Amino acid sequence: LHLGHAFSALFASRAAGTGRFLLRIEDIDQTRSRPEFVNSIYEDLAWLGLTWEHPVRVQSEHFDDYRSALDRLSSEGLLYPCFCTRADIRAADSAPHGPDGAVYPGTCRSLSVAEREERGDAFALRLDMGEAVRRVGRVSWSDESAGEQTMNAEPFGDVVLARKETPASYHLCVVVDDALQGVELVTRGLDLFESTHVHRLLQSLLGLPVPRYHHHRLIVDQGGKRLAKRDDARSIRVLRNSGMTPDEVTALFG
Ligand SMILES: [Zn+2]
Repeated sequence: LHLGHAFSALFASRAAGTGRFLLRIEDIDQTRSRPEFVNSIYEDLAWLGLTWEHPVRVQSEHFDDYRSALDRLSSEGLLYPCFCTRADIRAADSAPHGPDGAVYPGTCRSLSVAEREERGDAFALRLDMGEAVRRVGRVSWSDESAGEQTMNAEPFGDVVLARKETPASYHLCVVVDDALQGVELVTRGLDLFESTHVHRLLQSLLGLPVPRYHHHRLIVDQGGKRLAKRDDARSIRVLRNSGMTPDEVTALFG
């Protein structure tokens, strides 16, 4: 973990107060996840003095739950198979950009059943955003700092909810897990503020409760840049080995 992760964990633990503080391992990308990474997360958090509820929910053990949610959306005609590769989408250079990067131009949205069969294996399942937003109508969500927000998921375009190599997406998994774990308050960095619009949409589509949100500031380096995953100088491990105490690390956040 780096300092940004430590800040997020401490923020969440404080926000939980006397409530339950949950740790979740979001490891659906099995090409990047390793047991030793998970163990070092546990070690770093324990070193910071945090304790969390057990058992920890590990997303890669729950693909069936995400499959059920996808089946529900699919049976309601809200998903369609996309046959475009990442390279195809990059090639559509004129694509406008949304909060999550290039917005998918909807190439595969209107393929006929016969055309879909002909194309074979889909690369991804996408949400028909226009239709989803129409069905849900005007809804809102609330951030502890920014206040009431009217849902505005359309700028994301037809987001991917499952891929061939990873049969679930971040957006889908967190919404399903939050509901299954009875999460009432989600705390996370401001970089995910816009994503909450997509999560709010999925909650309505899947009939799930809507937690409160608290998006917090991001920890930046001296140049004002967001910390990167491999910014070793700012890793908890390096600070710890340099002789810093957990209290000294916590004090860095003011
Ligand atoms: Zn496509």
